[in-house]
Amino acid sequence: MIWGRSLPASLLELVLPERCSLCGAVKGTVSWCSKGPTLQGLRHWDGPHLCAGCLSNMLHGPGGAREWVSPCGFSVPVVAGQWTNAQLVELVGQWKYKGLRGLVWPLSQLLQPVLASCHWIEVDNKIWVPLPLHGRRQRERGFNQAVLLAGQLAWAWGGRVHDDLVVRRRSTGQQAKLESDGERAENLRDAFGPGKGIQSLNLQINANLPGKDPPRIILVDDLVTSGATAGSLIQFFQSRGLSVEAVVCLGVASAERRETPGY
Ligand SMILES: [Zn+2]
Repeated sequence: MIWGRSLPASLLELVLPERCSLCGAVKGTVSWCSKGPTLQGLRHWDGPHLCAGCLSNMLHGPGGAREWVSPCGFSVPVVAGQWTNAQLVELVGQWKYKGLRGLVWPLSQLLQPVLASCHWIEVDNKIWVPLPLHGRRQRERGFNQAVLLAGQLAWAWGGRVHDDLVVRRRSTGQQAKLESDGERAENLRDAFGPGKGIQSLNLQINANLPGKDPPRIILVDDLVTSGATAGSLIQFFQSRGLSVEAVVCLGVASAERRETPGY
């Protein structure tokens, strides 16, 4: 495979058979997940990389949809598709680190049941805001997974994606590896700054038409651990007079998670 190293990843993906990221089944031998719309960040050769059986197991298994109030001190609900379990961590890892961008199609389906029960999902002035990656990390990865997810959610549920409201000014490393909430808060201090889109959004709000509600911001992340990163962004928007309706993610991992039935 020496020749293989010089081939672009996209060409290799065309040559190699698409496999299920969980069970390893080859596409064409079993029922397969369907592709969704090819939106920002997705390419025509991307595939779902998941068989229909593995997606069905995740949708109907014990890690089904839940909704929690974040334990990290802010009152914005965290809407998650799954308990964070080994399968979800494996899929998100392949999505982010192996460049299997098309996994966003089946992954976004994990959120369908729980989003359908959210009272705010029907409003038409939703703004989906993907958590920003630091520029260096995005260049290394080639894409921001939260942008891919936000695009699919906006396509399915309406609203607009704004990935230009906030920028990550410095790389904050992996929050999950830090031990205490204090360390995580310190790590995030001044990590975010205003993006070029925030001024035009503020102008839109200030010129708001009578009787029209201000836009509702929904933060989008892949996995939430302590919620410190999302909490920092909620403060960022609140300090600019913008409120965050919810944090939507694929999974939550927290010892203090609490279900909030009836939200
Ligand atoms: Zn499978």
